[in-house]
Amino acid sequence: MAVPGAWKVDGEKVVTYLEAILQEKLPKSVIVIGSGAIGVEFSTIWRSYGVDVTIVEMLPRLVPLEDEEVSKDLKKEFEKRGIKCLVGNKVESVEATANGVKVKVSAEGKETTLEAEQALVAIGFRPNSKGFGLEEIGVQVNERGFVEINEKMQTSVPNIYAIGDLTGKLMLAHVGSAMGIVAAENIAGAETVTFDYEMMPRATYSHPQVVTPHEIARNVHAHPSLSEVLMEAAHAAEGSPIHI
Ligand SMILES: Cc1cc2nc3c(=O)[nH]c(=O)nc-3n(C[C@H](O)[C@H](O)[C@H](O)COP(=O)(O)OP(=O)(O)OC[C@H]3O[C@@H](n4cnc5c(N)ncnc54)[C@H](O)[C@@H]3O)c2cc1C
Repeated sequence: MAVPGAWKVDGEKVVTYLEAILQEKLPKSVIVIGSGAIGVEFSTIWRSYGVDVTIVEMLPRLVPLEDEEVSKDLKKEFEKRGIKCLVGNKVESVEATANGVKVKVSAEGKETTLEAEQALVAIGFRPNSKGFGLEEIGVQVNERGFVEINEKMQTSVPNIYAIGDLTGKLMLAHVGSAMGIVAAENIAGAETVTFDYEMMPRATYSHPQVVTPHEIARNVHAHPSLSEVLMEAAHAAEGSPIHI
């Protein structure tokens, strides 16, 4: 994936996950832009080391792709730990200054300027698909830059396959890996499976952690077994218990 392009990332004051992981010193304060998995994971770890963390999220809740209830609990826990959560706030500009960064945010028509030592841009990831001549050889790339594939992981050029983040399906390591197996089996003409992205597990390693029990609930587990108990617990967590 390529780094976000919306603001000037200088790698020192305005950073992405890459510089944030590699830097050897902790910032005193950080403004985390975006509250997806990467934003909340960095917020968790930085706060554990005593960094002053402010999350800015444009949508009305943290981890907006997860259930509303999860967002509510996570915000409550984050605030208890001293992480400031500015939800419903849009970042208008990010500017590196002599001592750090200034981030202009707006909410309900009102603008505020936040200041910190660093800003982490945790939004706007783009696939690195341009400039390799993919379109020239007929590989269909959509308007967001993701390579289009069918259920065999085949692109619009039948002998070219694509997997992982580049396809924009579900940007998770284990999903990319499983897609690779399906692609390899299709290339080899071996028996394989049809991928169901709904059934892929998702986890966010914040504190508290966020997991999506859907795939545990919807997989069929042998009776009687421990995994069947987990399945029933997952159904209950989704709000539809089988045994009450
Ligand atoms: C901070 C962060 C935390 C994450 N945490 C999790 C997590 O906890 N769990 C999880 O499941 N997923 C996590 N992910 C997502 C996960 O990392 C990706 O889904 C996964 O790495 C995708 O694998 P990939 O092979 O598609 O792409 P990548 O891992 O990005 O691999 C692509 C490789 O291709 C190389 N490359 C690019 N262009 C070229 C070129 N022109 N020539 C040669 N090589 C090239 C790149 O350098 C890279 O090594 C996280 C991502 C980030 C950024």
